[in-house]
Amino acid sequence: MNFEFSDEQELLRKTVRQFVDNEIIPHIAKWEEQGAFDPKIWSRLSELGLMGVCIPEKYGGSGMDYNSLAIVCEELERGDTAFRTAVSVHTGLNSMTLLQWGTEEQKQKYLEPQAKGEKIGAFGLTEPGAGSDVAAMSTVAVRDGDNYILNGQKTWISLCDAADHFIVFAYTDKSKKHHGISAFIVERTMEGFSSKAIKGKYGIKSGNTGEIFFENMKVPKENLLGEEGEGFKIAMASLDNGRFTVAAGAAGLSLACLEACVKYAKERETFGKEIGKHQLVQQMIAKMEAGLQMSRLLVYRVGELKNKGVRNTRETSLAKWQACDFANKAADDAVQIHGAYGYSDEYPVARYLRNSKAPVIYEGTREIHTIMQAEYVLGYREDKKLNRMLPKWPFEE
Ligand SMILES: Cc1cc2nc3c(=O)[nH]c(=O)nc-3n(C[C@H](O)[C@H](O)[C@H](O)COP(=O)(O)OP(=O)(O)OC[C@H]3O[C@@H](n4cnc5c(N)ncnc54)[C@H](O)[C@@H]3O)c2cc1C
Repeated sequence: MNFEFSDEQELLRKTVRQFVDNEIIPHIAKWEEQGAFDPKIWSRLSELGLMGVCIPEKYGGSGMDYNSLAIVCEELERGDTAFRTAVSVHTGLNSMTLLQWGTEEQKQKYLEPQAKGEKIGAFGLTEPGAGSDVAAMSTVAVRDGDNYILNGQKTWISLCDAADHFIVFAYTDKSKKHHGISAFIVERTMEGFSSKAIKGKYGIKSGNTGEIFFENMKVPKENLLGEEGEGFKIAMASLDNGRFTVAAGAAGLSLACLEACVKYAKERETFGKEIGKHQLVQQMIAKMEAGLQMSRLLVYRVGELKNKGVRNTRETSLAKWQACDFANKAADDAVQIHGAYGYSDEYPVARYLRNSKAPVIYEGTREIHTIMQAEYVLGYREDKKLNRMLPKWPFEE
């Protein structure tokens, strides 16, 4: 296992950090208040090659390895969770799914413009009655000649109003339960598609999240992703990539907490000394450092497995579960270290705390990952080889 980042990866980290420091952090308070970030950020992300970091160059991406995507996510979430979420759904949940499961035609039509940043991708699995229990979904797709007709609704969909393309899931045969779900590529411009943002979110306030609706939406049969009935398997494989990006982002949030606390602990004095000299404050800071370093080890191990083309569902689940819990705890302690000042908008830590909660819920709740890990250890669950894997890195030309 290689613990060193390449010069190219170090440069990538520096580039994203500068972008975050100069173009995100100074504006985040305003964007949170507005409930949306400036859409110009999308063109900046594509100019910097961040919309398809680990997508092969032949499909318009930067051709870097999977750990480079983790670096991007870590650095973006050091700024704000909304931007990492955007890359998670665009690249992790959508583009990487097309790379793994798409036909050559689908890759050219949908993956290439996404990797170049000309189009934005998103992912619709959750429904009002189906979150952790995916098979409880109600959306249906009925074959009608050369099309499928989709009816249903998805909720809590990141980038619901911003994305051009979505990968969505629907029953093509409800009697087959998990094996009756299929995956489709849909476009915002298809007749019968509509979206609506959810207002009043607890965190990720500058990000766009909401509902998407399909009303007799005609989807050409060429937009079926994989085979009929492969949708559940595709959804779970997509989550291996999405969760990887969420875990990497959580490491970035722990880093942001640590940076803010180290600074504050040296400025604030009580009982005649810097609060950083009080052992109970040191304990919280030491735990943040431990959480950050453990998160990174778990995340970058997963990236290595992806580079080798090895299935990593178990390792990804562990990384996502632990890194998000560490970040949530780090953010809680970061507010504590700032005392009453942490409880206001004067410092960023209250935003970190609000933002740290959604990743403990989405892409598998804390409880679902706890169950998964127990089942692996107890031998009740094992991962079989998939019929299609992500390409190994370095990519073949
Ligand atoms: C900001 C945000 C963005 C999101 N973006 C997307 C997106 O882009 N695309 C998308 O498809 N979805 C998205 N989601 C939805 C997210 O994936 C779901 O919220 C998540 O899967 C949990 O589903 P649920 O909210 O319905 O909770 P439920 O599944 O109803 O769970 C409720 C509670 O019960 C617990 N629970 C459930 N089952 C069990 C069990 N078997 N054992 C023990 N405890 C259990 C859960 O852990 C949780 O604590 C997003 C959510 C948020 C908050």
